[in-house]
Amino acid sequence: MIPFNFDYFKPETTEEALKIYSSEWKLGKKVIYLSGGTEVITFARGGKMTFDTVIDLKGIPECNMLEMQGEELVIGAAVTLNRLIETNLFPLLSKTARTIADHTSRNKITIGGNLMSKLGYREGILPFLITDAVASVIGHEGTVVMPVEKLAAAELADGQFLTHIKLSASNLDLPFIHSKRTRSSKVGYPIVSLAAMSKEGRIRIAFSGIHEHPFRSAVVEGVLNDTAIEDEQRVDKAIAKLPTDITDDFIASKHFRRFILNKLLSEMNTEWEGNR
Ligand SMILES: Cc1cc2nc3c(=O)[nH]c(=O)nc-3n(C[C@H](O)[C@H](O)[C@H](O)COP(=O)(O)OP(=O)(O)OC[C@H]3O[C@@H](n4cnc5c(N)ncnc54)[C@H](O)[C@@H]3O)c2cc1C
Repeated sequence: MIPFNFDYFKPETTEEALKIYSSEWKLGKKVIYLSGGTEVITFARGGKMTFDTVIDLKGIPECNMLEMQGEELVIGAAVTLNRLIETNLFPLLSKTARTIADHTSRNKITIGGNLMSKLGYREGILPFLITDAVASVIGHEGTVVMPVEKLAAAELADGQFLTHIKLSASNLDLPFIHSKRTRSSKVGYPIVSLAAMSKEGRIRIAFSGIHEHPFRSAVVEGVLNDTAIEDEQRVDKAIAKLPTDITDDFIASKHFRRFILNKLLSEMNTEWEGNR
């Protein structure tokens, strides 16, 4: 049970959502957006989050789009992980989504909720980071289209919410790898999770689990694509170029994370040997 009272709204348009946000905010209320609600409900039950007003984005058509528009795939923020998996329009995203939570939870968890999660993993963003996807965010100042990378590292401004993500169709069927290691079971937060794609002979790669937020690094990619470096040294050199310290927490020590990362990158190199 959620141990406090709150008002619940389910608008049918983006304009209505923004209007509710500002009128509630002007009354001094703490307003939050929600899509799948799994995290919001869990946090509220556990006393980690409070709010006066919830705006449920699931009724907004832009947030429910899942379609090709010309040469682009458009994915609404309120599309559930299971819908992404079942339609399989973007196989790398389907494979990544299949490793997040269990089947029942994925009926509720949305891609927007995963990308905006307060937990640092946000594995659903990895396929978007390596395909140069863009996010449409709406707020009182209008719509802003930004590289998905910006969502990975920063919070949205007050009142803004994610409506959809777009990526070029040319990225949908490229060779890819998704690898994830958890502490024990198949379902669990990642020690390391990576999504990689081979495009025009170059590897693109993004990581979750090893830093406070998911990331893609041009420097790491540069090393992994440098064929002048001996195969055996390339992975070590790439790890040495990671942007920050590796996470050290209750899931895994930084040494174990480094070891797993080394293993996953070596496996990727072996799988793609001669492919580049
Ligand atoms: C059993 C279980 C296992 C899990 N395992 C993993 C895992 O392995 N890897 C992983 O990455 N995650 C994992 N998660 C975390 C999970 O992916 C996130 O908590 C979940 O994605 C939240 O999705 P939701 O749609 O329910 O979000 P909600 O609860 O609706 O929202 C989550 C947050 O995002 C905000 N938000 C939601 N939609 C929008 C929007 N459109 N615009 C702006 N803000 C928005 C909300 O205000 C809230 O702060 C797991 C969760 C469960 C329950």
